[in-house]
Amino acid sequence: MSGFFEHTPDSLREWCVNHGMPGFAAKQIFDWVYAKQVVDPALMSNLSANHRALLVEALPIDQGHLLADQCASDGTRKLLVGWKDSSTGLPVLHEGPSTETVLIPSDNRMTACVSSQIGCPVGCAFCASGLDGLEGNLSAGQIVEQVHRLSRLGLGRVTNVVFMGMGEPLANFAAVTNAITTLNASWGLGIGARKITVSTIGLPEAIRRLAEFPLPITLAISLHAPEDSLRRTLIPWAAHASIPEILDACREYFDATGREITFEYLLLRGVNDRPHHARMLADLASTVRCNINLIRYNEVPGLPFDRPADIDVRIFQETLRDRRINAHIRASRGRDIAAACGQLRRSHTQADQST
Ligand code: SF4
Repeated sequence: MSGFFEHTPDSLREWCVNHGMPGFAAKQIFDWVYAKQVVDPALMSNLSANHRALLVEALPIDQGHLLADQCASDGTRKLLVGWKDSSTGLPVLHEGPSTETVLIPSDNRMTACVSSQIGCPVGCAFCASGLDGLEGNLSAGQIVEQVHRLSRLGLGRVTNVVFMGMGEPLANFAAVTNAITTLNASWGLGIGARKITVSTIGLPEAIRRLAEFPLPITLAISLHAPEDSLRRTLIPWAAHASIPEILDACREYFDATGREITFEYLLLRGVNDRPHHARMLADLASTVRCNINLIRYNEVPGLPFDRPADIDVRIFQETLRDRRINAHIRASRGRDIAAACGQLRRSHTQADQST
């Protein structure tokens, strides 16, 4: 266990005692970091000077380094965070492991879109994050740190968290569920379980494990196609589980948690946005308690997909609604800062390579 954000109250109390600090200091440190959003030990005024110095030396609050910070015209904020190279322990300044994290402000919420892995093993055909494969898993603390960093940008506290950044969250199950525990805890960031969404391409066994997790979080399935053959051309890991197998696991999730499933459907011009796709999707959706988010594709340079026409998006939604399926068109946010998953990291890496 290396950084502060990996800790629970019990483990930090033990750490304090093992380092010659009183056990109650753990509660004070938690209060500074989570309640007051202070990450500089020098400002933790109710700790002794010796103990503040010890924290600086032995318990870094942040593990990452900010590599880039972009603000879109619609207020969306995107951070690129570099992590220490696990082989050298040295901080990453330019190249090396890094992940994106995005803050999306809207009328009544501040949504953090976090990454669960460095890169992604799934390799979806339309996504920049999967282009270079998986570089590693993030720890629970690194996931929590992303949300904490966004919360202290001065735009307001994070109210909602979606695991829709880089990575397949259910392929990093323990770290993701431990992070959710901290995000939700009253001693942590205090974000309601129902305001935390895990988005997966659909791993049935992991969905069943998630149904046993004690917090009733929202499960989102990245469906993106209404039949398996098309889906497998878009999502290579779709070969591991058919749509009927995924829907079976979703029904079990609903039965166990009472939470409706969200299906994410990324509309790609001429690929999956035709009316017959909408009719097939409606047939699937009518078998599960669910709602559908329709998302317009943000183009990724070098990838052969286009944004759908507005008229086609509307027809798609109307086709679903005519069949009594609850379908919403989600606004694309932050287009002018390459807010689609993986683009900032990729452009940053390419800029480094060209210098
Ligand atoms: S869309 Fe998600 S699952 Fe697919 S490659 Fe990108 S990050 Fe991975």
